[in-house]
Amino acid sequence: MSKTILVFAESRSGSLRRVALEALGAARRLAGADGEVHAVLASFGGAAEEAAALAARGADVVHIADDPSLRAYAPEAYIAAIGAAIAAVRPDALLLGHTAMGRELAPRLAAAHGAGHIADVTAIEDSGDGSDVGFIRPLYAGKAFERRSFVPGRPWVVTVRPNNLPAAEPLDAAAGHTAAVKELPFTVPPLYTAVRGLVRRTSGQLDLAEADVVVSGGRGVRSAAGFEPLQALATALGGAVGASRGACDAGYCDYALQIGQTGKVVTPQLYIACGISGAIQHLAGMSQSRVIVAINKDPDAPIFGVADYGIVGDLFEVVPLLTAELQRA
Ligand code: FAD
Repeated sequence: MSKTILVFAESRSGSLRRVALEALGAARRLAGADGEVHAVLASFGGAAEEAAALAARGADVVHIADDPSLRAYAPEAYIAAIGAAIAAVRPDALLLGHTAMGRELAPRLAAAHGAGHIADVTAIEDSGDGSDVGFIRPLYAGKAFERRSFVPGRPWVVTVRPNNLPAAEPLDAAAGHTAAVKELPFTVPPLYTAVRGLVRRTSGQLDLAEADVVVSGGRGVRSAAGFEPLQALATALGGAVGASRGACDAGYCDYALQIGQTGKVVTPQLYIACGISGAIQHLAGMSQSRVIVAINKDPDAPIFGVADYGIVGDLFEVVPLLTAELQRA
């Protein structure tokens, strides 16, 4: 059963976010061989490179909404632009990344278009012919999973969690895939929010939500300076540094690094928890990581309950040893 799927291809500073390509990969699968995959880009003065990247990875039509109102994130403008794409394409489903932006836009778009909404999808099951598609999403901080399906005949708005679904790979040039790139006219509504400036808090490190390796520190790190060995380990592994709320509340690091129920949700290939006890609210943000390593001096710390590998020891001894080994390798 072929479907028409629309992807909101989120970009940042002129580059597509990886989750946009993961949503595109899911869209290709959902659309089926005879279906259509459309992508919509929000641009403010040209998005030719992003459009070409989407086309090379299987988008059949790329719609570019271009307007100065899309420069800084104002939800009303984005909702109008994506809404115009929904009206033009009439998709069976709209896919977005489960990012800060996607989490805000998806329910508002679903409500505005009378659509159903499935949030935070981590896996897609299908029968092969598209007749039975199940969207898997975690519940109760990852303790349970539910499977939701489309009700036929409705448009659906689905957000996909970063780092869980395979990204769309470039198609073989010999296969002769062609894509159309179209301007997408839309009416800019009154904007109720104005962005006066942007403050970057990540000190140029990788985006936590998309990093393959996350080295996280908790209250056991004891000070801001205590994060330095963790940063060295993250650098050696090509990863990013995260934190528990305990560390953020203690002022050891910025809240932008917080992982958990009220922080970011991460699903890296490798998560190294250093001096983190493993409270349920922290597990909500990292328990789906592929491999979890815990370093804690308390052998009874709950984090060992979710860890694949546990090291009982002082993080100030263990972390530099790991870094030195990696640097030697
Ligand atoms: P602690 O629980 O104090 O643990 C510190 C750990 O470090 C201990 O296990 C200790 O054995 C170990 N340790 C100490 N020194 C060393 C050393 N030298 N070497 C090795 N190990 C050492 N928390 C989050 O993380 N994210 C959230 O999003 C979040 N949201 C919340 C929402 C609500 C509504 C509430 C009520 C709480 C939330 N919390 C959240 C807080 C959560 O309940 C915990 O308080 C917090 O996660 C504890 O942080 P921690 O593990 O760093 O600190």
